[in-house]
Amino acid sequence: MNPFSYSRASDANQALAEISGRPQGKFLGGGTNLIDLMKMGVETPDALIDINRLPLAQIEELPGGKGVRIGAMTRNSDLAEHDLIKSRYPVLSEALLSGASPQLRNMATVGGNLLQRTRCYYFYDPAFPACNKRKPGSGCGAIEGFNRIHAILGQSEQCIATNPSDMSVALAALDAIVRVRGPKGEREIPMTDFHRLPGDTPERDTNLRSDELIIAVDLPAMPFATRSHYLKVRDRASYAFALVSVAAALDLDSNKKIKAARVALGGVAHKPWRANAAEKKLIGQEANEKTFRAAAEADLAPAKGYKYNSFKIELAKRSIVRALSAIAEMN
Ligand code: SF4
Repeated sequence: MNPFSYSRASDANQALAEISGRPQGKFLGGGTNLIDLMKMGVETPDALIDINRLPLAQIEELPGGKGVRIGAMTRNSDLAEHDLIKSRYPVLSEALLSGASPQLRNMATVGGNLLQRTRCYYFYDPAFPACNKRKPGSGCGAIEGFNRIHAILGQSEQCIATNPSDMSVALAALDAIVRVRGPKGEREIPMTDFHRLPGDTPERDTNLRSDELIIAVDLPAMPFATRSHYLKVRDRASYAFALVSVAAALDLDSNKKIKAARVALGGVAHKPWRANAAEKKLIGQEANEKTFRAAAEADLAPAKGYKYNSFKIELAKRSIVRALSAIAEMN
């Protein structure tokens, strides 16, 4: 392990001052991913700034009924069980409860969850030479290697990794906004722009700058999100990452026609994949299996599989149909 300094901040300004001028420094929240990566030699920060004492763990309603603000240090288990989330945004609660284990959810924070790194096997093994994400310019072991868990949408010739977060898929479907603070003040990043596609810079997972701190996530008011659902398909029933997941919400009129739809996919791309083509196909249509299948076909049209993961294309289509069907049957 590389040597690193450790300091503890008590407020956001102190945390930002500590990381200033240290582009290799990292904020330490729950540490459920970062510490693992440090032990394996994948992450080698020269400074850890512990932000566990920052007063950023509130979940509160925004004034004027504009939605809900979630502090970045909120633990995943607290968020999943909060009444405001369970009643207004059940898709988010379900996504959180489908991830990791109870012990990990008790430690993991919202900010850390947004920043967790891919579970690509080659990325996790520094003894393996080719990984553009870990070592830019070294190649990609997965493209010609064992790529069963890898991307089918938005990938590049540099990287076909997937984002592992369940929470982020639900946040993408809910039009969440990530609030960050840096040396120049605060800015808002729409959730759909927070994570990046790999392009030719796969080493960059997000658009967060190294001297910025995630402060909160805002969920805009979305009354029809009470009819929402998270479906996660994985190799075993718990403590496994998604092969494919779907976060969705439907707004139906009295004749079961679709007035509005939100669909996002997990396990298929380098970022939570907002299914814009599917949503477009759903609007104005009757909520039935034929409609859902047409929407799934539209969204997966550009999908490309590799030797071991082509099965994900049909799996994603079926998962969209299943998730939307479950929502349509809700009272
Ligand atoms: Fe590395 Fe990305 Fe290739 Fe995995 S898919 S080996 S993370 S470059």
